[in-house]
Amino acid sequence: MTEQQEKECIYRDLIIVGSGPAGLSAALYAARADLNPMVLTGSTLHGQASTTDIIENYPGFPDGVGGMELGQLFQKQAERFGAEVVIDQATSIQLDPQRYCIETYGKHYEAKTMIISTGATNRKLQVPGEKEFVGRGVSYCGTCDGWFFKGKDIVVVGGGDSALEEGLFLTRFAKSVTIIHRRDELRAGAILQKRAFNHPKISFVWDSVVTEIHGGQGVNVVTLQNVKTKETKFHPTEGVFIFIGHTPNTDLFKGQLELDDEGYIEINKTMETSMEGVFAAGEVADPIFRQVITSAGMGAAAAIQATRYLESLEEM
Ligand code: NAP
Repeated sequence: MTEQQEKECIYRDLIIVGSGPAGLSAALYAARADLNPMVLTGSTLHGQASTTDIIENYPGFPDGVGGMELGQLFQKQAERFGAEVVIDQATSIQLDPQRYCIETYGKHYEAKTMIISTGATNRKLQVPGEKEFVGRGVSYCGTCDGWFFKGKDIVVVGGGDSALEEGLFLTRFAKSVTIIHRRDELRAGAILQKRAFNHPKISFVWDSVVTEIHGGQGVNVVTLQNVKTKETKFHPTEGVFIFIGHTPNTDLFKGQLELDDEGYIEINKTMETSMEGVFAAGEVADPIFRQVITSAGMGAAAAIQATRYLESLEEM
């Protein structure tokens, strides 16, 4: 008996891979179209947004909403109409025309159509010490790890919305937050910039990159290099929070779907990938907007199109 024959086999009209705002919005729309969709959660239930302390720009929540709470609400709403959310993670995906197969550690799934919403993962600095000190001073999530840095001096690397939002959140715990940015101008939006510039615990080191993270049991210092003068200096710190953008989770699709130069899945106006019947939504296919609301919209659009695709199969 082969490994695949031993595995439980599950067949569905539509399988959605990924459970962030795109995947769960797709599930809601597909469930309301009576498709009985299945969502495979992947390793991050409710996606990256669920690790955000508070989301203030998702309409319908004038006082903001916790990232985790919003993810739970998305799931509850999709399940109410019959979506099935399964905690499982694809280890390989085989896309042959009209036969899309997903392997996980224990199961084999097959679907007539698929929506890929696997999101993106935090980009790494790729400097000495980064890997070694993950969980011992290096972190990619303020909401998850901030509490461990009570009363400590920490640095945040990056100049985008994530760096500032997380940096502001971390001021609840840290004694000081130093934001290290490789330019002398932030990428983040105006409101976050204003809040960060006015915060007494936040300071900035401009035109600088972290070139090494040092420590013993935990982090105790980083080497900074000024990109203009090339000067290096040691900066004492007990925590290094890294928010320098994302890379799309598309390893499973390399060689099967068309990807752009940065690895994002190429889609057309109807959310379809280079393979008929396979759709993509959210950050895995969006290098530009990457907002909860745009991902949710993409998910809804992909589900509408997947519904039409299934109807076209029935007519054949
Ligand atoms: P981002 O906008 O891509 O910003 C990444 C930042 O990291 C940039 O400032 C970039 O510098 C810097 N960077 C990139 N690679 C680096 C490296 N190797 N070394 C040092 N610095 C590096 O990523 P993000 O902040 O995670 O945001 C992602 C998306 O989510 C954006 O569309 C953002 O608007 C959205 N978002 C929105 C909110 C909100 O609305 N509240 C919150 C979080 C995220 P440069 O500026 O020089 O390129």
